[in-house]
Amino acid sequence: MNFQDFDIPTLPRNHKQSGWLTVSTRADGGEWRLPLLYVTGRQPGPTLVVTAAVHGDEYEGVEAIPSVYEQVEPNSLRGTLVMLPICNMPAYEAALRSSPVDGLNLARVFPGAVQGSITQRIAYWITQRLLRHATFYIDLHSGGATYNIPTLIGYICDPGDVGQRSLAGARAFGAPILWGHPLPLAPGRTVSAATGLGVPSLYTEAPGGGYARPDDVRCFTDGVLNVMKHLGMLEGSPQPRATTHHLFGDGNLDQVIAADVAGYFRATVALLEEVKVGQRVGTIRDPFGNLLQNVCADQDGIVIMLRRFHRVHVGDGLVHLTAQV
Ligand SMILES: [Zn+2]
Repeated sequence: MNFQDFDIPTLPRNHKQSGWLTVSTRADGGEWRLPLLYVTGRQPGPTLVVTAAVHGDEYEGVEAIPSVYEQVEPNSLRGTLVMLPICNMPAYEAALRSSPVDGLNLARVFPGAVQGSITQRIAYWITQRLLRHATFYIDLHSGGATYNIPTLIGYICDPGDVGQRSLAGARAFGAPILWGHPLPLAPGRTVSAATGLGVPSLYTEAPGGGYARPDDVRCFTDGVLNVMKHLGMLEGSPQPRATTHHLFGDGNLDQVIAADVAGYFRATVALLEEVKVGQRVGTIRDPFGNLLQNVCADQDGIVIMLRRFHRVHVGDGLVHLTAQV
């Protein structure tokens, strides 16, 4: 099959296939290609789209997606499962969050542009060819190399239909932490594009650090299969992990407590620690050990993200706090 013409509504039923999708040419005469895996059930039903490595240094979903694929067979599936384990191939090749080709963050350019640079074209293809036809969408992220975030499932917190279906999906997915985000979501994200199309969505986070912990890979693999059971695509009931925290906030990691000065950052709180507004959550020092900035909490809340790299520049995001539901 030529994946250039990949079209969810016309996929053959009762079929399982993986292959490469060409998105653009490379300067060396080759092509930028994305891996795509799909399974269509014997019976029609919902369409679930799953993506990973939208940021090129986040590996959990890259490993979880083939594991899901291995466990789903056409004769036991209702509906259609379409998965892209590596969305941002240029960033993945370079082990970077954003693309080294055009400098863009794929999670900031959705819904993309048909005539855009490579990152914008990838976003456009995912939006038009996948999300537009999805019944439900899951985007597998983690903290990548830069950020430390606990293993969680993020959902749309809204009384409308998309929000309620997103929350039910999050409960079925079964990560230890649920994190709800009110509408409108920050623009440019995969999940904001899905929301704009009326498609309920979820995304994950995990500690990352350039390494996929086997338990996070298991959590994401089981989570996708749990959502498929929840949607009636697979037989059986979801077996979610117990919830330890249910959190609420905008989830916008572009707007967090930031460095006022460059230097060496040391967090003085731990992930999921409860802090009060004004409390010191970290320090920035010069190479002689002199204190340059006490980094303080901007609100009461729970620590949901800590910067992992110690060397910080002015404006780098250091700590993010969120509220309990
Ligand atoms: Zn990410």
